[in-house]
Parts: sequence; structure tokens; C-alpha cells
Amino acid sequence: MNRAVLAISSPITLWQRIRDERRDLLIAVVYLIAYVLTDASSYVQPVLRLDITPWNPETALTLAFLLMSGPRGLPMVALAAFTAEGLIHGMPAPWWALLGASLWIACGYTGLAVILRRWGLPRPINANNTAVGLAAGVMLTSFTVAVGYVTLVVISGALPRQRALGAIASYWVGDVNGILTLFPLLMYVNRWRDGWQALRRHVPIAALQIGAVALAMWIIFGLTQIEQVRFFYLLFVPVIWITLRWGVPGAILSTLAIQIGVIITVQRDAHAPALVDLQFLLLTLSLTALLLGAVVSERADALQRVATSEAEQRALLTTAPDAVLTVSARGQIRSANSEARRLFGIDQLPQGERPLRAVLPSVQLQSPQGRAALEGRRTDGSAFPAEIAWARLEPPATAEYLVIVRDVTERRRAEIQLRERERVLAGAMRFAVAGELASALAHELNQPITALVSYLQASEILAAPLAAQDARLARTLDKAAQEAHRAAEVLRRLRDFYRNGTVKREQVQVSALCDSIVTAFEERLERNAILLTLQVPAALPDLESDVTQLEIVLHNLLVNAIDAVCQQPRDRRRIDLTVERSAREVTFRVEDSGPGVAEDVADKLFEPFVTDKVDGMGLGLAISQSLLRGQGGDLLFEPGNKWRGACFTVRLPAASRAAVDART
Ligand code: ADP
Repeated sequence: MNRAVLAISSPITLWQRIRDERRDLLIAVVYLIAYVLTDASSYVQPVLRLDITPWNPETALTLAFLLMSGPRGLPMVALAAFTAEGLIHGMPAPWWALLGASLWIACGYTGLAVILRRWGLPRPINANNTAVGLAAGVMLTSFTVAVGYVTLVVISGALPRQRALGAIASYWVGDVNGILTLFPLLMYVNRWRDGWQALRRHVPIAALQIGAVALAMWIIFGLTQIEQVRFFYLLFVPVIWITLRWGVPGAILSTLAIQIGVIITVQRDAHAPALVDLQFLLLTLSLTALLLGAVVSERADALQRVATSEAEQRALLTTAPDAVLTVSARGQIRSANSEARRLFGIDQLPQGERPLRAVLPSVQLQSPQGRAALEGRRTDGSAFPAEIAWARLEPPATAEYLVIVRDVTERRRAEIQLRERERVLAGAMRFAVAGELASALAHELNQPITALVSYLQASEILAAPLAAQDARLARTLDKAAQEAHRAAEVLRRLRDFYRNGTVKREQVQVSALCDSIVTAFEERLERNAILLTLQVPAALPDLESDVTQLEIVLHNLLVNAIDAVCQQPRDRRRIDLTVERSAREVTFRVEDSGPGVAEDVADKLFEPFVTDKVDGMGLGLAISQSLLRGQGGDLLFEPGNKWRGACFTVRLPAASRAAVDART
């Protein structure tokens, strides 16, 4: 596998290497030619035909070349310097001295290039540190190179020793000026398009600035006595103006233009001062421009970064789905994003008076950061549930807090709906369980109760001969048989209802039904000293209903009422069973003087298995309600009555559902 990859990748790598090497070679050759040509064009006022001139722009090319190629470029630099000595200066010193000097130059600038590469160059000089470092490095290296070069030519006898200092000064200022006026520009080469476009957008101002430089040059060299160069400082004005406007590229371009202008002037005018003197003046100008330019570029970059990050943050805040506010130390809203303005209607508040409490009345921003759920208030007075998060802002932010507010109305509503749905589902589940249970119980009890009925009937027959002696036995057995029948019937109806929802409709005589139920409780009421009042309107038409189911319901309600009133002293035990009829429905109301429904039970009263009784199953009310609903009726609870006890109301349609359907 590895070998296969190698086999495929090797030719590609090889080809790339060849391509890279060809490119490097091309660059080296271009450098060599450019070096020789630049050296030739800047060979001004040399010291004794040596390569000691006060203006050496080719050194900038050398530094740029070494930055690109690294130390590998050293031999090429030495070759370029040596070639120039031969071609342009005609070997002004012995070959070994010039070769040594060329190697010295190459070594010096290679060292500087290595350091500059570590510093992250090549890149635009847009930081003050970079500019200072570059200037210091260049001045130091150039000085070392100058001293070495001059020493070698002095040793070789090509330069008298007494001219050494002047030569060093000329060489040094030439190299420094050459590098500082050209090298930083080379760092901007791949940005020339941006510069050109910026220039085209501001042609008038650029023209004015060029005019200002030209005017200053004319004043210095044209108007006054050239020897004095008294007005050289005038050049600072346009150069600083240009630098402030265009940063490092402007600074370098203007000083380069001035440099070229100075050289041309010096060349053409016989009375011109020594170029080396002018070069020292120019050095201060280009250094000032470079350092100032770096500060300007740095500031422009920083402003650009701030503007970008501000724009990004603005976009973030504008598009944020939450309301975002900044709040002053005095609790005033300083700024609000569009969602905050929309949510609260903040624009309705007066401009200078926008307290946070106007929109978040109960807010308390004390800790450095936190979260809270509280009420938000819109400027129209309406309120909504909100969740907020805040954080204290660090200086230099002028606002004290950042507050994020989320309107959770929808979420709350969804939560309530979900809870309601869960409750309904749980209720349905429990009803299903209750139904299953009731059905299973009915099934299991059916057999023994049927047997009980049979045994009671047999007992009645067997006890018949004894009836003459004691009539109570026959009566008691008869009652037992009736109750057993009723129990069997209740079980059967329950089973039918929960299995198939079967409702058996029949004509029910309401007063007879009520009498029979009350009679069934007679003995219990008496034993517990309970006063039960039954109120049934006289001429009450028959009700169409499942009588057994109705009996089950009323039976349950009365059992509960009896349990409740038994908790009261014996003289305060009252139950009222009232029947009322309207055009649409018949109502049975069971009211008691008990303590009322316990608080923890009240809101889930009709749910199965909810009970506060030791022996209760919590099925009575649940089953009763489901039976009544199956008949189109309902069972309701009304807390508090005349005795502050409980009140349960059974509602049944006056006519059967079929009859109602037929009428409508
Ligand atoms: P159980 O009687 O087996 O507890 P129910 O469904 O009939 O089951 O009643 C459920 C609960 O409702 C009772 O445990 C009781 O707490 C309450 N309750 C019902 N009726 C009354 C009433 N008349 N007074 C006070 N509490 C009542």
C-alpha cells in the first residue's frame, strides 16, 4: 500500500520539486540582472570608483531576495555583488578583496534576512514595532557591512586609510537610504491593485500632494542657494501629509520620489552639495516617514478591525431572536436591539428616561451575572412571562450590564398544553385500568353472588314452614335475597358498561327511585344519627335512564356523604338529596354537612384511585362520572354549601339522547 502511494506520489513530488527549483532559479537570475542594473543606475558620486556610493537601492533588492529564498540565496547575493564590481565598477580593487567584500555583504544581509523572517516578514510594515525593528536592524547591519567592506578595500590598498571614515559614512547612509526607501515598498507589491484603486478614487488629493512635494523640492533646490539647503525641512510637510493620508506605502513612495529627485538634481547641478550630506538629511526624512507611516497603518488596521467587529456585533444583535439591552449603572436602558424594541415597544418610552424597571418591574441586577424568570412588561401595559440572563460589563464599556430577555409565553403555553395532554392521557389510562378492574371484579363476583342468590332462595323455601312462628325470618331472608339480586345486577351492568359501553334505557320514576335508595340506607342513617332530607318535586315526569347505573351513582354519593358527616358531632350530621328539573335536564344534588373535600384531593377528585380513606379504593366518583357521561350526563363537584360541606350534582338530560336527536 505504502509502496503504491510512493509510486504514485514520487513523480508528482519530483515534478513539483523541479518546478520549484526552476522558479527559484528564475527568481535568482532576475535578481542578479535587477541588481546589476540598479547598481549601474545608482552609481552616483562613488568614492574612488569603488562601490561606495551614498545611494544603494540594490541593497533593498538583496534583502527582499534573501527574504524570499532564505540563506540559500547567499551565494547568489555574493555573485551579484561581485559581478557588479566587475561589470560596472571595473574591478576597482584586487579580486580577492572584492570577492571577500562581496561575501561579507552577502553574509551580513543574509543574517538580517534570517532575523526578519523570524519576525514574520515578508509582510506589510503596518506595525510600529516592525518599523522600528526593521530600521534598527537595517542601520546596524549596514554599518557592519560598511565597516567590513571599507576595511577590506583599505587593506587591499584600493582606498587610503584617511578616507576610510568618510567612505564608511557614505556606504552606510547609501545602504540605509536604499533599503528604507525601497524595501518596505516591496512588501506591498502584491497589494498594488488595492493601492492603485484607492489612488484612482482620490485623484485630486493625490495630485495636490504630488504638487506639494514638487513645490517643496523647487523651493529647496530651485529658489534658494542650493549649497545651503536651508529649506530642506519644508519637505517634511508634504511627506507627513502624504503619510497621514496613505500610511507606509505613501511614506515610502514620497521619500523614494524625493530621493530620485535629489539624485537627478545633484547629477545635473555642478554646484550641488555632496550627495552624502543630502543623504543624511533624507535619512531623517525617510525614517520619520516610515515610523509615522507604521503608526498610521497600525491605527488604520485597528480602526478597520474595530469597524469590522462592530459591524459583526451589530449584525449579531440585530438578527438575535432574543431581546438584548445594555443598562447603565443608574438602571437606565442605554441601548436595545431590534427584538428588544419590538418586544417591549421601547421606542414609546421618552428618550432620556428609560428605566429597566419600566419593562422588567421586578428585576434585580446585583450579582456580576445571573439568570431569572420574571415578568416582562410592554409599554402598552401588557405583561408576559420572561426569562432573563445578565452579565456585568467590564471597562471600557460604558454600560454597566448586558441583559438578554426571552419571551417564554409560547413555551409556557406549550408546556401547559403538554401537561394537560399528559394529564388527560394519564386519566384515560387510569380509567381504562379502573374499567378493567371493575370488569374483572364483576366477572369474579358474579359466580359467588349468583350462588348466594340461589342459596337465599333455597333458604326462603326451607324457612317457609317456620314463618308461622316468626315472620321476621322470612322478611329478613327476603331482604337478603333482594340485596343479593341488586348486587348481581350492579355487577352485571358494570361489566356490560366497561366491556361494551352498554346503557340500558328505561322509564325511571324518580321519586320511587329516591325512596328505595334512602330506604336502603335507613338503618345506617339511624345508627349514626344522620338527618337526611329528601326533596323531590311532586309531579315529576319519568326519566329515561339506566336505572341501575343511576342507583350506583346515587348510592356512591350517599355513602361518601355519610362518611363525611360522620366526622362531625352527632348533632351536626345533615344530608340533603334534592331533585330538580328544568326543560333540558334533571338534577340530583347531594349536599352534606361534612368537613368538605380535602384540599389535596379536590383537584383530582374524579380520577380513579384517589382517596383519603383508609379502606377507600377511590373508584366511586370516577366510575360514577364515567357512567353518567356514558348516558350524556355528568357528575360535578361544587365546593362549599350552606353547611360548608361538599355538594355533588348529577345531571342527566331530561329526554334520552335518541329523543333529542329525533327532535333536532
Ligand atoms: P372512596 O370513597 O373509595 O375514597 P370516591 O371516589 O368515592 O372513593 O371518593 C374519592 C375521595 O373523594 C374520597 O376519598 C374523599 O376524600 C373525597 N370525597 C368524596 N365525597 C366526599 C364528601 N361528600 N365529602 C368529603 N370528601 C369527599
